[in-house]
Amino acid sequence: MPELPEVETVRRGLEPAMQGARFAKVEVRRGDLRWPLPKDFAKRLQGKTVTGMGRRAKYLLADVSSGDVLVMHLGMSGSFHVFDGAGHGKPGAYYHERLKHAAHDHVVFHMSSGAIVTFNDPRRFGSMKLVPRQKLDAEPLLRALGPEPLGNEFDAAMLAQACRGKKTSLKAALLDQRVVAGLGNIYVCEALHRALLSPKRQASTIATRTGAPNERAERLVDAIKAVLNDAIKAGGSSLRDHKRTDGELGMFQHNFRVYDREGQTCRTAGCSGTVKRIVQNGRSTFYCPTCQK
Ligand SMILES: [Zn+2]
Repeated sequence: MPELPEVETVRRGLEPAMQGARFAKVEVRRGDLRWPLPKDFAKRLQGKTVTGMGRRAKYLLADVSSGDVLVMHLGMSGSFHVFDGAGHGKPGAYYHERLKHAAHDHVVFHMSSGAIVTFNDPRRFGSMKLVPRQKLDAEPLLRALGPEPLGNEFDAAMLAQACRGKKTSLKAALLDQRVVAGLGNIYVCEALHRALLSPKRQASTIATRTGAPNERAERLVDAIKAVLNDAIKAGGSSLRDHKRTDGELGMFQHNFRVYDREGQTCRTAGCSGTVKRIVQNGRSTFYCPTCQK
């Protein structure tokens, strides 16, 4: 499942092809994604211009000149690919791969820029929805989301307040999209390792009794921002399905310090511990019991 860095990587790939361009033609080849696309989906987009390409948590938000926002989610296996329109780029391994999987190109945007943007999703857990801009704040998909971790408003005070009195583990708290939006299993494991905090630690222990942040909250917020920024710089992590919109793989999986490294040596400087895998809330957690306290 793509997390914030992978979605941000996709946003950055779509922006030059879509922002400022008009939907010349919209093809819906299969409308039964996670939810059915509205019947007038193509009609509401065709002829309209994309005025902005944003992101909220794991949602891509394309502002359209009609006043709608096109809200898109990659689901489990969704990906976008941008053909630049100047012939299909370089024929090569990737090009052939596209032909093979074209059956899963469910939505195709033909942009006035000449770019062709395809949404491919073998498992069809991805989604697209048109929401009037003035109703976006009330949109159920977005309403309950916590702060953007890379936003200025997300700081130790805010995280501590959200974790105040919480009896759940720190791992579970960070996966809760109401506490902070956009993090999933990979980046929570990696952030906790960078902050040298145990995933099993009770969430409330990063706050004082009155909800003020302690030094652990400061470290954790710094670690979350750092790991997300590093991952975005690397184009996200490609484990199964994530690719950049130009078909290249993200590279951050090579920089994992604990995720998927069970039994290997901890990468904290000066620590000779071994990465351990445990199961928390039904999902694997990777951490170093030696330096994460
Ligand atoms: Zn360690």
